[in-house]
Amino acid sequence: MNFLSSILLIKKLPNYKLVIFLILFSGICEAFGISVLVPVVTSLIGESSNISLEAPFDYLPKFLNFIGLSPSLSLILPFVFIAMILSFFAVFTQERVLAISRYKFLARIRNEASQNLIDSKWEYLKKISSGELSNKLLVESERAAESVVAIALMLSFLIQIFFYLAISLLLSWEMTLIAILTIVFTGFTSYRLIKLVNSYGMKSVEHNNSYNRQIVDVSRGMKLIKAFSIGDYVKNKLFKLNLKATEVQAKMLINQSLMKFEIQALISLALIFILIVSVEFLSIQPTVLLIFLYIILRITPKFFTFQGQFYSFYANKPSLDIVNELIENSKKEFEQSLDGKKIFLCLNNKISLKDINYKFDNEEKFTLTNINLDVHKSKFTSIVGPSGAGKSTLIDLIMGLLTPSRGSILIDEENLNNLNLGSYKEKIGFVPQEDIFFDGSLKENICFDKDFSQEEINEILKITQLKFFVDGLKEGLDYQVGEGGKNLSGGQRQRLSIARALLRNPSILILDEATSSLDSRSETLFQVALEEISKKYTLIVIAHKFDSIKNSDNIVVLSDGKIIQQGTFSELVNISGLFQDLYKTQSKLI
Ligand code: ADP
Repeated sequence: MNFLSSILLIKKLPNYKLVIFLILFSGICEAFGISVLVPVVTSLIGESSNISLEAPFDYLPKFLNFIGLSPSLSLILPFVFIAMILSFFAVFTQERVLAISRYKFLARIRNEASQNLIDSKWEYLKKISSGELSNKLLVESERAAESVVAIALMLSFLIQIFFYLAISLLLSWEMTLIAILTIVFTGFTSYRLIKLVNSYGMKSVEHNNSYNRQIVDVSRGMKLIKAFSIGDYVKNKLFKLNLKATEVQAKMLINQSLMKFEIQALISLALIFILIVSVEFLSIQPTVLLIFLYIILRITPKFFTFQGQFYSFYANKPSLDIVNELIENSKKEFEQSLDGKKIFLCLNNKISLKDINYKFDNEEKFTLTNINLDVHKSKFTSIVGPSGAGKSTLIDLIMGLLTPSRGSILIDEENLNNLNLGSYKEKIGFVPQEDIFFDGSLKENICFDKDFSQEEINEILKITQLKFFVDGLKEGLDYQVGEGGKNLSGGQRQRLSIARALLRNPSILILDEATSSLDSRSETLFQVALEEISKKYTLIVIAHKFDSIKNSDNIVVLSDGKIIQQGTFSELVNISGLFQDLYKTQSKLI
């Protein structure tokens, strides 16, 4: 992307038209400030109070003559004051609007990214790393906003330069030519450093992502790190990633200082050159020379600010690209539109899977092949099979989180594609393998955004064998569960996750049973809860412990993406096959 097309990125800023107007306005104010200064300098140099000037700098004396006043220093100075105040005010307003736009832009890209993510398909979300996501939303979006603001500030400088050059041209074209050549030459010499900073910017995003990914993994796996006593190994990994992320930022700063040094040296050289040429060869008037020097003095700090902004743009541009990529990619992966589709109220008969095949985008092999299965209303269906057999994928398809590559899913004879997926998902209660708890009360953690009555809550607590536990708590439902539910036992967390799903009155309850072993009392309570639930709901369970599925109406045995056996517990356990093998292995382990 070249510099000119980069300037167009200013359109991404909220209120960009107002920003551009203010940039132009400050440029005009700046030019006005200098032009009124010309008569003052002329007056001071000429040591005369009678000011006569050549066009176009004579407009103020002319105006004073026109209203019948003789132009003098004391009459012109108030105009200089007004011009100065006006230009300071213009800059202040521009900075104020820009600051507001910057944070509006930041809020907008963060909201757009999070909104698009939440609306995109599970297939896509599954691939996103949480560490990378938090880095993109927190750090990179901040840098993206900085890069867009840098564009506005660069544009502001370019417009001011334009006005300065216009005035300089009117004063002396020879000196202006030298100034332009200096600017172009400085640009060329800085080019290699600019290219370098862009690559540092990209590396910085990459290293920040890796560091964030690792931080999230470490915070999740703290228990394992302690248990395995691998603190030193993890620390070293974190140190190395942190070093890479900070080193690249240090390189960026050093590069920026080098660029500043080169530019300063070149400008000083140009200044001396301009002075020699104007005095020795061009016999420039002292007034012009003074104004010219004033312009150079005004422009030099601005030039350094510009250089800083230019640098900031190229260093932060990769962050803008990465956040845009996140926004655009998730937009492409939006879930199907729900408009005009049939609303699902409840399951009346059965869910039928007809010749289902499923392949992940990045895989060559089909994860599920020729799946034909009926899940009947109010029945208890269990899915078993070795790890990697495709159990979770099958459940994700039934829940409408994945779309079959081939075949169809019929809900009471209606193709799932024709149903309003939102209304269907609302009627599915899902209990994931990993229970998720937020810091807060028990009530908040099971009710979330809905307000259930005490009777409704009590009924569900009874079904899930939690009533006794909650009644025994001093604070009852106001009991604080702690971060991630750490004040609860594994069994309590599991049954609370089920209670949470049941409270929403689902038509179908899907349970991915936790593999971690529970104590025998918790296991008994879980089995009793499951029995109670199976009487009332259409229940699908991914089972790892066969004791809990003895009462299943149908057990589906999956192996390598295919259904290889189906039947009740007593049917399957008595015939040789995978189910019997798995059951025997499990019995031996217990
Ligand atoms: P199970 O629940 O029986 O352990 P899964 O349904 O999770 O099995 O996985 C079945 C197969 O699909 C595995 O070989 C797994 O590697 C693959 N798989 C699961 N998720 C993805 C994914 N997002 N991308 C590619 N392959 C996947």
